[in-house]
Amino acid sequence: MRISSLFGQSPVFSLEVCPPKNEAEQARLWETLGSLESCNPGFVSVTYGAGGSTRSQTIVTASEIKRTFGLEPLVHLACIGHTMAEVRELLNGIQAAGLENILCLRGDRPHEHSALETCEFSFASDLVRLVRGGSWPVDVGGACYPECHSESIGVDTDLRHLKLKVEAGVDFLITQLFFDNRHYFDLVRRARAVGILVPIVPGILPVTHVTTAERFISFCGVSAPPEFMATLARHRHEPEAVFEIGVKHAVEQCQGLLEAGAPGIHFFTLNRARATKAILEVIKK
Ligand SMILES: Cc1cc2nc3c(=O)[nH]c(=O)nc-3n(C[C@H](O)[C@H](O)[C@H](O)COP(=O)(O)OP(=O)(O)OC[C@H]3O[C@@H](n4cnc5c(N)ncnc54)[C@H](O)[C@@H]3O)c2cc1C
Repeated sequence: MRISSLFGQSPVFSLEVCPPKNEAEQARLWETLGSLESCNPGFVSVTYGAGGSTRSQTIVTASEIKRTFGLEPLVHLACIGHTMAEVRELLNGIQAAGLENILCLRGDRPHEHSALETCEFSFASDLVRLVRGGSWPVDVGGACYPECHSESIGVDTDLRHLKLKVEAGVDFLITQLFFDNRHYFDLVRRARAVGILVPIVPGILPVTHVTTAERFISFCGVSAPPEFMATLARHRHEPEAVFEIGVKHAVEQCQGLLEAGAPGIHFFTLNRARATKAILEVIKK
């Protein structure tokens, strides 16, 4: 099933997971998906380890998710560090596995520049063009950044690049996580004003641990409302309180987004079910 056919009817709730690295992680992921299956997710996206270790596992995991749960996978593919030939081979593998949806990404620049020397791609839009120029029958998603991508010199430049990427053949966009809906609304408004008309799905990270939230804020270059962080910090050593605060914040975000007409919600699950399930149980009522 092509994911773009889902948008425009009822909100599409999707899950992002990482490929497991060992049997224990595999068991946990299966338990997570088993628990969230009843929430009828529209699709499950499977990340791609641009850094290396889990690269080969993305297609395998996506195929197994489709076979085991009947859920539609969205395969992440990051082109950084790859040659064109390698990416063509991966695309052939995706097609052979019967997977029909790809999130085309550049990936984060590696610290050592040697990995870039062999790279024949500069931006995600180069990957989108390669996919669209071939005969791979897939829907193409792209990433976007409500608070601007960390390498961009400003929101207008970032938006110009986003428009080029969408014009290269992107069917839908999924955002980086954010904790203040105003960033998403601003992005959508600015995107529509420059003619980016594809669905823009907001990405939500349910906070369940203070350190995880702090790590993501720093790593992804996003902000969080000070009062939210202060409340979390006050309960730093009370796991259940942090869970409740994180779920409440995410529920409020999701309700605000859906009321404003967001096409769905993409949950960064970190391969855990409990928080996403708690949120979906409230917002799907
Ligand atoms: C929903 C989501 C899922 C993700 N999943 C993964 C994953 O599975 N694996 C992974 O490794 N990473 C993942 N990432 C992270 C992503 O790879 C990084 O944020 C990366 O730094 C940028 O990737 P991109 O596809 O957005 O790049 P691009 O769209 O190429 O943008 C990267 C930067 O280049 C600039 N740019 C773009 N086009 C041009 C141009 N023509 N000229 C000049 N500058 C330009 C942009 O403004 C931006 O600053 C994900 C991000 C999101 C939001």
